[in-house]
Amino acid sequence: MSDTASFPHPSLVGDAAPFWEAAREGRLVVQACTECGAFRHPPRPACARCRGSAWEWRAVSGRGELWSFTTIHPPTLPAFADRVPYTAIVVRLEEGPFLVSTLVGDAAAAARIGSPVEVVFERVDDTLTLPLFRFATAPDR
Ligand code: ZN
Repeated sequence: MSDTASFPHPSLVGDAAPFWEAAREGRLVVQACTECGAFRHPPRPACARCRGSAWEWRAVSGRGELWSFTTIHPPTLPAFADRVPYTAIVVRLEEGPFLVSTLVGDAAAAARIGSPVEVVFERVDDTLTLPLFRFATAPDR
């Protein structure tokens, strides 16, 4: 990544802080309600299913399937200029929760709904590591 100074950073404090701390350590975690067990992402203070306010962070496999995708073309923010075109994705993890991310590798032309994907981590700088996804196996063509 060539332009880390201007790369947009998510809020690294508040409800999502443990998600980003785990990503910096190469781990993918998702908030889970300790009252009904439901995963929830993005992180937030209450459960949408039972309205419970207690939660824990659970490590997840990092494996899932491509739920949706779109290819991003120019123009884009300057920080992403050297990445376009890239494939923005929604992944459904095998544990159930959904994550918005990016498909990496020589992937855009091969993206198919349902393709198996797995997490990889890309260090942006000392404060931010992004959980991205790549194909877990060669997709059907
Ligand atoms: Zn709940």
